[in-house]
Amino acid sequence: MIEISKWKFNSNSPVMFMIDDIANVSIKNKINTDLQIGEDWGQYGTDENSMWDFLNKNLYILYPHIKTTFFLVTDKRSPQTSTTKYSYSEAIDKDEKFINFLNLLHNNKNIELAYHGTTHGIAELTNLKQEWNTYKSLDHAIETIEYGKELYKKVLGKYPLGGKYCGYEKGNYGDSSINKTNFLWWCRDWDAELESNKNKNDLSYELEYFNNTIDIPSNVDGSFLSIYKPQFSKKYLRTVYKYFKKNTLEKQIDALYNAKQIISIQEHSSPYRTDGKIQYPNIVSDIKNLQYIFKLLNKLDVWYATGTEIAEYFEIFKNIVIKENPKGFKFLNNSEKIIKKGTIVTIIFHQTSKIKVEVENKIYNSYEKNNIQLVNIPVYTNILYKVFKNE
Ligand SMILES: [Zn+2]
Repeated sequence: MIEISKWKFNSNSPVMFMIDDIANVSIKNKINTDLQIGEDWGQYGTDENSMWDFLNKNLYILYPHIKTTFFLVTDKRSPQTSTTKYSYSEAIDKDEKFINFLNLLHNNKNIELAYHGTTHGIAELTNLKQEWNTYKSLDHAIETIEYGKELYKKVLGKYPLGGKYCGYEKGNYGDSSINKTNFLWWCRDWDAELESNKNKNDLSYELEYFNNTIDIPSNVDGSFLSIYKPQFSKKYLRTVYKYFKKNTLEKQIDALYNAKQIISIQEHSSPYRTDGKIQYPNIVSDIKNLQYIFKLLNKLDVWYATGTEIAEYFEIFKNIVIKENPKGFKFLNNSEKIIKKGTIVTIIFHQTSKIKVEVENKIYNSYEKNNIQLVNIPVYTNILYKVFKNE
């Protein structure tokens, strides 16, 4: 029997590391000082103490296999309130340094830049009205998204494939605006929050379609601290509270892993907001916790991937079926969808002896994992994949 593995390499879970609100923005707490850690939202590129420098020195150096999906605010980002402001906030195409930085990220195979609105919303007297809540009609939403996508393309040469609502707020036109603007995938809900309130009906940790777009859940809060690392902070009190409700970070990750569901870790690029408050989660306050989370994950059989890699794999798993015949097998498209050619998927052969698969004049050898044989192979529909014994 042959089947398509739920995730690449027959791993239990994909791990998606999500950092929201990368932007051409910075927020200096004191003028005339060098950049301090946390003050950069992306504007400072690869400079010392920039967001990128901080991630490299504190996380990627320890866990170089992490794949990060950054959610990019494309136009001039609004401040948190109408009477406060950033030290610097401009559109992504405004200056050469930021354009070069974004291209450096875009060309890094461990990074994806996804879409996260134009201004992130409209600043009001006491709060920020999230972008999708500000759209007055479906047309208004679509026009704004198209504008933001063009800015992205101007800087990076192609359109974004996925994205996320600002503040996970859909507004009245959210899902239909996304379905109509050609995104492969989207993060629609802060699922970790749904768990503790009454909207449990919306709660799903499986990927699923909403019309033509794939919904990727967000389920691990990077500031959900380990109970084993006591701190004097409000966040730690919340962790203790959850502990008495019989939930810990470790249990949450275990449950997702055992159910073969995505582990998507939510973060922000900077702790500082224009109104002087600290936003959680953020990579700076949470760095010790993030190191701990990735250490836990290192012991598990997980697949580090970007949003698009996960969505493309899911698209095959959901829509393609295998039809076996005496010479081998074919992939058949069981849906109306146009499936991207050549996506690599993992095929499971429930046997212990090695095999090889031939397609398009190339040979793919199987390898053993937990007493079954696996082959990683590109998907083309309706052509014969010949299967041979590999002695
Ligand atoms: Zn955001």
